[in-house]
Amino acid sequence: MATWVNFKNLREQLNFATVLRHYGVEIKAKGEQHQGFCPLPLHNGKRNSPSFSANLARGIFQCFGCGAKGNLLEFAAMMEKVDPNDGTGLRKVALGLQERFCPELRRNPEAKRKARPKETAETGPAKIVAAMINPPLDFELKGLDPAHAYPLSRGFTRETIAHFGLGFCSRGLLKERLALPLHNQKGRLIGYAGRVVDDTKVSEDNPRYRFPGKREREGKVFEFRKTQFLYNGFRIKTPVDNVIAVEGFTSVWWLHQNGLPHVVATMGADCSEKQAELVASLVKPDGHVWLMADGDAAGERFAQSFLIRVSPHRVVRWVKLGKDRQPTDLSGEELKALFSFHSDP
Ligand SMILES: [Zn+2]
Repeated sequence: MATWVNFKNLREQLNFATVLRHYGVEIKAKGEQHQGFCPLPLHNGKRNSPSFSANLARGIFQCFGCGAKGNLLEFAAMMEKVDPNDGTGLRKVALGLQERFCPELRRNPEAKRKARPKETAETGPAKIVAAMINPPLDFELKGLDPAHAYPLSRGFTRETIAHFGLGFCSRGLLKERLALPLHNQKGRLIGYAGRVVDDTKVSEDNPRYRFPGKREREGKVFEFRKTQFLYNGFRIKTPVDNVIAVEGFTSVWWLHQNGLPHVVATMGADCSEKQAELVASLVKPDGHVWLMADGDAAGERFAQSFLIRVSPHRVVRWVKLGKDRQPTDLSGEELKALFSFHSDP
């Protein structure tokens, strides 16, 4: 761990848009100017007007409501409830950002690096040619709380919560959300999804699930695409006789808890070509895919796209649920009755 940090170098290298996103601020930039509700935890006015503005190119911000202003490092400090005038505290926050976004500065602090093009809404990262899709993460979220009431209140056991690595996140992008680790088919961690724990807080700006966004580091763009893997797919190491496919995370946890381990989810109301190929690769040629969609219009659409893409490769059996029923509504007994292979090892 580095013990020093050059504030000026770091300020020049950090991308303000990245820092804002890191703290969960949705960028709505016009040119180089982002404007929105004040995200600062100590903002003491109302939050009903977009009083906060940030100049992405210059790396500075101000809020007309609470009067806070400063550079992007001071912004980060305020987001972490650190007084920017507290040198030790500011340094700690700066080091955290350096570790995460500019680790190369740690090795060579005084090196003059080529100025990167600053990201704006218009130019965006589009200038950079190729994006890496779903690269493995080089860090893990620390301090997730597995004992939070939300998953327990939905009927999941501590074993299930531990098995899927779920935990409540109290800071950063997934603040106030249940964090769900996501793995590629090789079992490498590629990101976290975050689920709101209080459904009354779901809105257009606060979706039920949040997935990783694009990130940029040393001129490379990293992109997360949930259409390129299956949730829980990595646990099936060699093709099996029966795989159950569902739409969402909670169905995977529920079926697993009821003795059905070979369950995968597409994480959306559509099955992509890549996901269809993956499903087929997890099932023996003479095996079965059991499709269990939610009993609503979105589930119907999901089932159609799944059947179109997977049935050319494997036999698919569609287990139809009653109107407005979801896999998580089924009891262990009902699941046992539906899946005759239930007792297979
Ligand atoms: Zn403010």
